[in-house]
Amino acid sequence: MSTTLDFDIRLNERPLPAADREAVLADPGWGLHFTDHMVTIRYTEGEGWHDARLEPYAPIPMDPASQVFHYAQELFEGLKAYRRPDGSIVTFRPYMNAARMNRSAQRMAMPEIPEQLFVDALEVLVRQDRDWVPTRDGYSLYLRPFMFATTRALGVNQPAKEYLFVVIASPSGNYYSKGVRPVTVWLSQDYTRAAPGGTGEAKFGGNYAASFAGQAEAVEQGCDQVVWLDAIEHRWVEEVGSMNLMFVYGSGADARLLTPALTGTLLPGITRDSMLKLAPDLGIPVEEGKISIEEWQAGCESGELTEVFGCGTAAIISPVGAVKGADRAWTIGDGGTGEVSMRLREELIGIQYGHRPDPYGWVH
Ligand code: PMP
Repeated sequence: MSTTLDFDIRLNERPLPAADREAVLADPGWGLHFTDHMVTIRYTEGEGWHDARLEPYAPIPMDPASQVFHYAQELFEGLKAYRRPDGSIVTFRPYMNAARMNRSAQRMAMPEIPEQLFVDALEVLVRQDRDWVPTRDGYSLYLRPFMFATTRALGVNQPAKEYLFVVIASPSGNYYSKGVRPVTVWLSQDYTRAAPGGTGEAKFGGNYAASFAGQAEAVEQGCDQVVWLDAIEHRWVEEVGSMNLMFVYGSGADARLLTPALTGTLLPGITRDSMLKLAPDLGIPVEEGKISIEEWQAGCESGELTEVFGCGTAAIISPVGAVKGADRAWTIGDGGTGEVSMRLREELIGIQYGHRPDPYGWVH
């Protein structure tokens, strides 16, 4: 294995006993349990990345004046390791996560990490904690790389000089353990996720902290997730929850997809990018454009707009059944799971889990 740094391997002397691990893997939920190890790599201005380690999963001692606690210089990534029928373990497009992390880093005035070092860090952790990659269909090991400012300084005028990059891993169950269920979404007029020139395009923790109030409002309104509209006119559809959106027009051989273009306020999803490549190869043309809430409602009412789904690493594809806002509500198609959504879902999951060939070289 080529590494850009040598990892100091410090094994956990008290890993979770196999029987307890198997109990966790039988019903892991999402983001609740963590494997025996983590990777840490330090960055110091002038010196670059250093002290790469695989070490026991444990709390990280932090100085209370660390910049991350005050000015939120932090970013993260998310991807999964999948177990395939032959027992091998793969990740999906990890270099895209590395590239996105570095674009986030540029926006947050944080250091970029060499893409190979990022991928090596994932490999070191997954190789060590391979027994934590679930074997059950639809299950996976979620990988969470993140980076934050550790410099002890309260000066607000400049970014930190020291950072810690960490990778932790969490077994995750099937997002839809009882079968794919369409979600109901809430059109938030009170909250926006991202403004032009802001941080919406970065996978920055603050974007998520800022989204909780909108998500809580959606739940109060009896909906599952919040639809984020643009911050200026409050009518152009951007994302849903933490997923990108896809709109299906027509059906059968005439189906085509529209997805909101990456304007700087949307997170460039890796699942979204995969759909843009996969769908045309299945005979479903894709357009990146703009869609307003009025067009969304009118399209559903005329029957021209047949399906809508969110897409992201966690759920892969999450059909949207109904939309609700302060002064309007409508159903998409018959409110159920659409044919095009389910077909794209099967195809992508098939590539990830090795049930289908991977003509794109996405699997690592
Ligand atoms: N939008 C937001 C706001 C997200 O947090 C995510 C999850 N990373 C996505 C879209 C989907 O991105 P991906 O397909 O890379 O998981």
